[in-house]
Amino acid sequence: MTLIVQKFGGTSVGSIERINAVADRVVRARLAGHDMVVVLSAMSGETNRLLALAHDLHSDPPAREVDVLLATGEQVTIALLSIALAQRGCDARSYTGAQVHIRTDNVHGKARILDIDDARVRDDLRKGRVVVVAGFQGVDEDGNITTLGRGGSDTTAVAMAAALKADECQIYTDVDGVYTTDPRIVPEARRLECITVEEMLELASLGAKVLQSRSVEFAGKYKVPLRVLSSFDDGPGTLITHEESGMEQVLISGIAFNRDEAKLTVKGVPDQPGVAYAILGVVADEHINVDMIIQNVGADGTTDFTFTVDRTDYRKATTVLEQIAKKLRAREVTGDDRIAKISVVGVGMRSHTGVASVMFKALADEGINIQMISTSEIKISVVVEEKYLELGVRALHSAFGLEKGQVRTGSVTHSA
Ligand code: ASP
Ligand code: MG
Repeated sequence: MTLIVQKFGGTSVGSIERINAVADRVVRARLAGHDMVVVLSAMSGETNRLLALAHDLHSDPPAREVDVLLATGEQVTIALLSIALAQRGCDARSYTGAQVHIRTDNVHGKARILDIDDARVRDDLRKGRVVVVAGFQGVDEDGNITTLGRGGSDTTAVAMAAALKADECQIYTDVDGVYTTDPRIVPEARRLECITVEEMLELASLGAKVLQSRSVEFAGKYKVPLRVLSSFDDGPGTLITHEESGMEQVLISGIAFNRDEAKLTVKGVPDQPGVAYAILGVVADEHINVDMIIQNVGADGTTDFTFTVDRTDYRKATTVLEQIAKKLRAREVTGDDRIAKISVVGVGMRSHTGVASVMFKALADEGINIQMISTSEIKISVVVEEKYLELGVRALHSAFGLEKGQVRTGSVTHSA
């Protein structure tokens, strides 16, 4: 017997019709002989609707009460699915997070799971029942209801799978897997058969929001076999793998991008010890996150600092920088919030050189100027003018042959 955890997102349980379709799918898996645990989100739009109600009453509603409110969304869908399963003669039991002891810390609105006591679930499974668990919620030490942050049902599912040592955790959603890039920008984008946890984390944090990042971290830590599939058709989806030595590695898995950043430059700073700290220190004091950083020393003994921040922090960052620039006798502060970041991600980069030059050549061929570059072991990111975002992503997608099928490092012939 295999144990499978299936998680269905908001659109997959968004109507009675859709809930019936989920029930049919669960019954099929049960008839195939699997032990089944099902984790659900609230109906699509429900969490937002509830949040709006709270904000109608209070400009900053108490976080504890918001969690009590939001947790009702998932309580509705677990009961409805269990009713639909009963209609099919399938013995099912629904449980809230607290009832199956999903213990979290007490950070309302973004609580972290500490542990799960799976005794009750195992007992039901032994009795042949399907167990239906509310996603996104848990309970703290004092019995308060907590929620795990938006998209948190993914994390509930992976955590349940880890606790139960499930054979697979299947996340059913409205897309049929993880793509090489956003198909709205590159129609030739392809579904990936598999992707490593590390690659998925890079793609997720860069805006490919298929899974909550925390759920992917969890899957990595506890080695949970994880698959993303569509609840609207029967494809194989994308398997998120745990890299094994000897496994053939892809060179580039995907291309991520975002428009969420802005760039700031402090020019003509006297080049002395402590200036980086002076500049970035005041930015950190304002709780502004810095992403890429570049420092360049000019011939005249001054230095230029360029870095990127969240676009929403652009105004605030400009103001604090103008103050510190004056203090340091820097020449000027300039900024640009019409930038975009494009990243190529792939574990194969570790063992192969030449990825950067393929990337830079593809952009040069399109006449796209690179403003900033940063690299990590499995990622190269560039900042370009925002208006070149689509063109750049398309050029890179074709330069790495991503439309052609998964390229393995053994067979790569790109010459830079
Ligand atoms: N219902 C919650 C949300 O909309 C949790 C989830 O769907 O994963 O964020
Ligand atoms: Mg989701």
